[in-house]
Amino acid sequence: MIYATIFPMKKLRDWFLENQRDLPWREDRTPYRVWISEVMLQQTQVTVVIPYFLRWLQKFPTIQALAEAPLEEIIKAWEGLGYYSRARNLHRAAQMIMADFGGKLPRAAEDLAKLPGFGPYTIGAVLSFAYQAKAAAVDGNVVRVLSRFFASDKDSTQRKHYEELALAVLSDEQPWVTMEGLIELGAQVCQRTPKCKQCPLIDDCRAYREGKTAELPIKKKRAATIYLERQVAIIHYQNEILVRQEKEGKIMAGLYEFPYAPLKDTLPLNLPLRKLSELPIVKQGFTRYDVTLYPCRYEALEKKNLEGFVWKRWEELPLLPFSSGHRRILQELTNAHFAH
Ligand code: SF4
Repeated sequence: MIYATIFPMKKLRDWFLENQRDLPWREDRTPYRVWISEVMLQQTQVTVVIPYFLRWLQKFPTIQALAEAPLEEIIKAWEGLGYYSRARNLHRAAQMIMADFGGKLPRAAEDLAKLPGFGPYTIGAVLSFAYQAKAAAVDGNVVRVLSRFFASDKDSTQRKHYEELALAVLSDEQPWVTMEGLIELGAQVCQRTPKCKQCPLIDDCRAYREGKTAELPIKKKRAATIYLERQVAIIHYQNEILVRQEKEGKIMAGLYEFPYAPLKDTLPLNLPLRKLSELPIVKQGFTRYDVTLYPCRYEALEKKNLEGFVWKRWEELPLLPFSSGHRRILQELTNAHFAH
């Protein structure tokens, strides 16, 4: 195949074997460790993931331990990594693996695809790094390297195209080494601003030769950012605070939040309140949302049970998983000792 003949696979492999970073998931590559690390790394930087990965393995050392753990404990262990659906999917997938696959991560792509949270990248990564198969694991790093090396006119969302390119350049012998080499090169050298002078592929890279590295990979236009403004009510009655837990199916499912409403609305709570003080504004971005939170403290004049809400003792709050914006408000409250 033409792609394979022009791709300097050996140079990439030699570079990788010499320059790969020492990362905890690269030791003792069990399928479970590969799976957890790959899911954590999907939207999160390596340096952030390392302590989470190590703590996770201590807390949930096996697929069985993960399957049997309460969801709340799992969400708590994930707190701060964001994109919480990943944690919920890990839990559900672990339960399915126990029930349907004898407690072992399946080796066939079709079986892996049945598990929640297993998209093409994770499937490719498990097959390649855990089971040492010839499989494409195409993430943003790989797209950068391949699109530039071949000066591809396909935009970065054309996953199939980049999977085919990756498969075409993978070696038959130890293909997982070349696969990981592509990822590592993208992470260390062929970054957004590429360090071409350090790159083992420089002599054959078409984007470098043609001076197109800054234009590639071609980007699809992003959806417009949505700006939201929310008032957040921190309501206490004696030593208890009113919180709600987001239901399944919602973007923040499983996470606790203080009651909130659009800034211009009145709070949808049937509860007599006395306003106390406003707290510093918190800005939070997730996916394509840009949210500004305006927290304010209130005292409830009576304690009522409200549907969808629970009263939690102040000391319990730091132990609960909170969405990141509301966790920052909680931090602010803790620092200021407001609840005491
Ligand atoms: S030469 Fe530059 S653009 Fe080409 S693969 Fe290497 S780092 Fe990327």
